[in-house]
Amino acid sequence: MRKKIIAGNWKMNKNADEALGLAKEISIKCKAESLVNTEVMLFPAFPFIPIVSEQVKDSGVRVGAQNNSLHKSGAYTGEVSAEMIVSCGADSVLVGHSERRQYFAETNHVLAEKINRALEVGLQPIYCCGEVLEERDNGTFLSVVENQIAQALYHLSENEIKKTIIAYEPVWAIGTGRTASAEQAQEVHAHIRKVLADQYGKEIADTIPILYGGSCNPTNAKALFSMPDIDGGLIGGASLKADDFYAIIQSI
Ligand code: PEP
Repeated sequence: MRKKIIAGNWKMNKNADEALGLAKEISIKCKAESLVNTEVMLFPAFPFIPIVSEQVKDSGVRVGAQNNSLHKSGAYTGEVSAEMIVSCGADSVLVGHSERRQYFAETNHVLAEKINRALEVGLQPIYCCGEVLEERDNGTFLSVVENQIAQALYHLSENEIKKTIIAYEPVWAIGTGRTASAEQAQEVHAHIRKVLADQYGKEIADTIPILYGGSCNPTNAKALFSMPDIDGGLIGGASLKADDFYAIIQSI
């Protein structure tokens, strides 16, 4: 049975006190509920990874980074390596979020390298993919997503792909309040699982969690998570309020 995952991407929000407060509220709720087969992951900004990790320890909540450098170490001012992230207490990292692709020109080939750096040091990557509105409207979205998966992931060994999580996040649904319908999301999730099965075999494809992201909230989460190939959510805006985030966790 595939694990269910609810991940909160805090983006460039919250100061240290606020991050700590939010982590505390979420970890207390999760610990009280002792969730079965569901993992909760928080992705604060880099500086807060140590304090958030310390805050959630013993609650089962996991902590990750929002990005990692494609380089291992050296003269790359402003960059943060995968190894540094691990040493701060994180166990996972978002790779290829659409905001990184759009504002920082990250290509599938760069993202393939970032995934390599993450896996080398034991960070679990959540690889984000998804089409822009024009690609949704012109009907090319399945091939766009397939290409993003192929170029960034197909070099991975069976062992490596099994450690990878995928998040389908249609760009037109991120932060816009416009969600993909459960059926639209399921169509793409099923396609992702099919292409993974073509490449790695059905048995492996069936173990890989595929999360949905894009204006997921307490009202629409249940319908999305009831789809057979949607294994949870990557949540942006609604992860910044403990009550909303927890309501989403409960709907899985
Ligand atoms: C995201 O940034 O990954 C995301 C899904 O954002 P939102 O939930 O705000 O659309």
